[in-house]
Amino acid sequence: MAPTLEAAAQDAESIQDVLTNPLKQKPSLIAPEPEHCPGPESEKAGLADSCAGCPNQKICASAPKGPDPDIPLITARLSGIKHKILILSGKGGVGKSTFTSLLAHAFATNPDTTIGVMDTDICGPSIPKMLGVESETIHVSSAGWSPAWAMDNLAVMSIQFMLPNKDDAIIWRGPKKNGLIKQFLKDVEWGDLDFLLVDTPPGTSDEHLSVNTFLKESQIDGAVVVTTPQEVALLDVRKEIDFCRKAGIKILGLVENMSAFVCPKCTHSSEIFKATTGGGRALAQEMGIPFLGSVPLDPRIGMACDYGESFFDSFPDSPACKALKGVVRGLATNLSLDPGTVMPED
Ligand code: SF4
Repeated sequence: MAPTLEAAAQDAESIQDVLTNPLKQKPSLIAPEPEHCPGPESEKAGLADSCAGCPNQKICASAPKGPDPDIPLITARLSGIKHKILILSGKGGVGKSTFTSLLAHAFATNPDTTIGVMDTDICGPSIPKMLGVESETIHVSSAGWSPAWAMDNLAVMSIQFMLPNKDDAIIWRGPKKNGLIKQFLKDVEWGDLDFLLVDTPPGTSDEHLSVNTFLKESQIDGAVVVTTPQEVALLDVRKEIDFCRKAGIKILGLVENMSAFVCPKCTHSSEIFKATTGGGRALAQEMGIPFLGSVPLDPRIGMACDYGESFFDSFPDSPACKALKGVVRGLATNLSLDPGTVMPED
C-alpha cells in the first residue's frame, strides 16, 4: 500500500524528534524489541500504539527519560581527536567507502598526521579489506578496544573485526545497531588523532541519526558528501544535504567521484557517467555548498582496494591522486587549517 501523507508527516516528525532530543538511557528489557518498536530509549517508548501487547510495555513506559549517561563518556573518549568528519552519500554504488579509504591514505601521506577510520556500515563493512586489515581482530585491554593499525599513522575500527567469519550476514535492526555504534564510540581507545573519518552507510538511516546524536556533544566538524556525476545520483544527494541541514551538520564539501575514466596508458579521458545536468560542481553551486573536486575513475584504484594497498604509495602521480590531494587541501581550508601543512606540496 502506498504511504499516506499522514504517515509521511509522522515519519518526518519522528526524524525531527530524534534529531532535536538527546538520546535516552535504554531500560533493561525482559523480551527482545518487536519489529515495530519505536525504540526503548524514545519519548514514545511504552506509549506508542505499536507498544500494545509488548511484554516490555510497563518497563518502557515507566523508564526514566533523562539524557543518555553514556554521552559524556563518549565525549571524554573522543576528546583526543582534533577533527571528526562524516563521509556520506545519497545512494549506494558511488564509491563512498573507496573514497574514504583513499582519503585516509591521502591524509596518511603526511607522517606528522594520525588518522582513524570508523566503519559504521554495519551490514556491509568493506573498509578493513580496502585498508588491508581484513584479518585483524579486536584487542581488548583495560583501556578499551584497540583499533587495528593499517599503517603507522592510520587506525581502523569495523564490525568486521568482531565477526567469526567474514562472509557472515549481519541482520540487525535499529536498536541493536545503535547499541553497537554507541559501543564503538564509547569503548574504542583511539588515543590522540588529528582526523577521524566516519564512513557511514548510504542514505539517511538509523546509523546516521545515531552517529549524529552520540557525537553532538563531542562536536562533529562536518560532513563530506560523495556523489557520481549523473542526475540519478544527484537527486539522492539533495536529500542527503537536506538531512545534514535538518540535523545541523555542517557540509564541508561535495566530492564528485568517478567523474571520468582516465586511461592509465594514454591518459585519454572519457565520461562514463555523463553529467547531463552539470554534475557535482553545478549541484554544489545550486545548493550553496563547497565543491571539493572531481576524482576520476582509475581501474588501479579498484585493484589497490582489493589488495588493501595504498593507491598513493603505488601511483602518486596519477590524475586520481592529484585530484585527491586537491580534495584534502580544500577540506583543510574548510576546516580552517593550513592546506600546505595538512597536505604538503610534493
Ligand atoms: S514497549 Fe514499545 S518501546 Fe518498549 S520494547 Fe516494546 S515496542 Fe519497544
